[in-house]
Amino acid sequence: MDAPRLRFAPSPSGFLHIGGARTALYCWLLARRFGGTFILRVEDTDAARSTDASIDAILASMRWLGLDWDEGPEVGGMHGPYFQSQRRAKYDAAVEKLLGEGKLYRCVCTTEELATKREAALADGRNPIYDGTCRDADHPANTPLPHVLRLRAPRDGETVVDDAIKGRVVFPNVELGDQVVVRSNGDPLYNFVVVIDDIDMRMTHVVRGDDHLSNTPKQVQLYEALGAT
Ligand code: GLU
Repeated sequence: MDAPRLRFAPSPSGFLHIGGARTALYCWLLARRFGGTFILRVEDTDAARSTDASIDAILASMRWLGLDWDEGPEVGGMHGPYFQSQRRAKYDAAVEKLLGEGKLYRCVCTTEELATKREAALADGRNPIYDGTCRDADHPANTPLPHVLRLRAPRDGETVVDDAIKGRVVFPNVELGDQVVVRSNGDPLYNFVVVIDDIDMRMTHVVRGDDHLSNTPKQVQLYEALGAT
């Protein structure tokens, strides 16, 4: 195995909690055991919830635990910046690339329309994923309507998460739908920015909480759209 690169990627909206410390410990142990690199990346894109006090508390807690990082805040590194709030230009460039390749599309469906469709799907016992109304509508860049950007995701087949602990976890693509990548205010979403950063920072392994398993197939689809493994 090549020397692994692992990251701990906390969202600074509170103190470091025990689950986060556990995830950080596993990443750190794996990196140290195999002569790899442990990276700390601060996921502070949610400006309303991220605070400097939380960032300081997380860094202090990591140091107190002895979980020293090789790249990240205060130590720097070759793949920075290590604060997502400073990486916007990279996200915007990736959005432009995917839009140019037709892998993203503009969706003008309103929140109310989506809620109505969702309720109807649930009432019929169908999976309430986006129905693809705007997928082939080809709304132009200068549409006056507020819009999000969605991934033109595969509709057939399946997306596989090959997990070292859980094994091969299979998600039928019909159940995943076309995820939103960019909000109507232009902000890119969590699944997208994480994938851009994990590619850009050359991560070899992702170790994180079980609660992220349902996000992982969406991230795998984004890797595929970006032509990355
Ligand atoms: N920032 C995410 C969280 O705090 C973790 C992201 C990840 O590990 O992919 O839950």
